[in-house]
Amino acid sequence: MKKIVIFTGAGVSVESGLPTFRGTDGLWEGHRIEEVATPEAWQRNPELVQRFYNQRRKDCMRVIPNAAHRYFAELEQDYDVHVITQNIDDLHERAGSSSVLHLHGEIRKAQSSKDAGLVYPIAGDEIKMDSVCELGSPLRPHVVWFGEAVPNMVPAAKLVEEADVFIVAGTSLQVYPAANLLYHCKPGCQIIIVDPNAKQLAIPANVIKIPHSATKAIDYLAEILSK
Ligand code: NAD
Repeated sequence: MKKIVIFTGAGVSVESGLPTFRGTDGLWEGHRIEEVATPEAWQRNPELVQRFYNQRRKDCMRVIPNAAHRYFAELEQDYDVHVITQNIDDLHERAGSSSVLHLHGEIRKAQSSKDAGLVYPIAGDEIKMDSVCELGSPLRPHVVWFGEAVPNMVPAAKLVEEADVFIVAGTSLQVYPAANLLYHCKPGCQIIIVDPNAKQLAIPANVIKIPHSATKAIDYLAEILSK
């Protein structure tokens, strides 16, 4: 069975109603990234960081998967499909994808601020400021902040190395090390990029570009995969 690896970013969830942060103003929901998505931000102002992610979690829980999430899940009927996502939302899982590897964490989980290996599901939609892990340290959002290690890069790179088709959708390919995955494809792997901005992205010449939104790209993807 052909192996398809799908690498997604914030753009795939835009049509569900979740914005990207690399818009024209460079802000994520009105905040500079350094204010809310770094270990220093957590040290400086944990209340702000907790409030920010509590709101992102609520946003995530009120939206539903779009046609692109569902299409990626449906591909499992004919292919061995693995999703690698930079998104912290759970829309791929809710659309029915059975193999989803989160590179940057999962908003609906909490982790110990002392030991990143201690991860817990969140009951409800908030982490309260007085919640602690079993070691007694405050719970923080289970997200990989800028400047932190990305432990899932190793299994992600292995998946990409085995791919016959690599679909990259809705990512500006500006966040490292995730963006390096493109360069783990084996020779002969078909690479397809879906992004309304695809023509502007710095990508190798042998890549097929579909310069459309994720949901609009479905028909083009289906046509390419049928050949
Ligand atoms: P990014 O914001 O850097 O880039 C998003 C890309 O999506 C852009 O190239 C844009 O042209 C494209 N895009 C916009 N609308 C689209 C659409 N309808 N269909 C397809 N593509 C579209 O996002 P990134 O590369 O994922 O990196 C940002 C980081 O932001 C990630 O680490 C992620 O953790 C975090 N983030 C996650 C979410 C989420 O979980 N939904 C939302 C915002 C940010």
